[in-house]
Amino acid sequence: MDNATRLYCLKTMGIEVWTPRDAQNVEAVDKIDALMPDVDKLVEIKTEQDTWQALTNEIKTCQACDLCQTRQQAVVGSGNLNAEVLWVTEAPTLGDEQQNQAFADDRAALFDEMLRAMSLSREAVFMTHIVKCRPPDDRDPKKAELAACGDFLTRQIALIQPKLIISVGRVATQQLLQSKETLTNLRGTVHHIDAIPMVAIYHPAYLLRKLSAKSMAWDDMQLALTFLK
Ligand code: SF4
Repeated sequence: MDNATRLYCLKTMGIEVWTPRDAQNVEAVDKIDALMPDVDKLVEIKTEQDTWQALTNEIKTCQACDLCQTRQQAVVGSGNLNAEVLWVTEAPTLGDEQQNQAFADDRAALFDEMLRAMSLSREAVFMTHIVKCRPPDDRDPKKAELAACGDFLTRQIALIQPKLIISVGRVATQQLLQSKETLTNLRGTVHHIDAIPMVAIYHPAYLLRKLSAKSMAWDDMQLALTFLK
């Protein structure tokens, strides 16, 4: 922000503006000005924090679908708010709900291994679910629940602006792509969500059951990595 704009802003805020009387004072003000934080950037950061805060509050108190009646808590997501990679998986499980994060439970170790293989970590990425509340008995979310919750994920994507989205498992992939194709047909290629590349990958829970699918998962991870170089 230049000095003239700063003076204008202070004036419109009703703050009395001290005007330098000679060149020496002008120079001093310019030096002080150079040390001042960029107000535009501060406003931008504050807006972002406020928006995340607002979004978190909305999700935590949301009653837009029946899942609010059986949840222990809504799971907003966790990780780096400025992540290059956004991982989106199915609905929270009991473990996810209790630990308030995605990929908890017995799948956590394999998911962490997958991250490590890509030189990533939970702290470097953001992880969230396609719906934020756990369906009873860990059933698949219903169409109405997916529709009711969709806007939250859209807002998270807009806030994070990731370079890449990785959808994990059939439910998240089909919902993100609005497709009824099998995950086998949807994986192995690059899709786009609002111009952001998206790669689909098998869920760690599936990989633990079907070891032969691990090589395909590795292929998908390699495909994802091409966007992060
Ligand atoms: Fe709201 Fe989504 Fe939870 Fe349904 S699943 S209550 S839409 S936060």
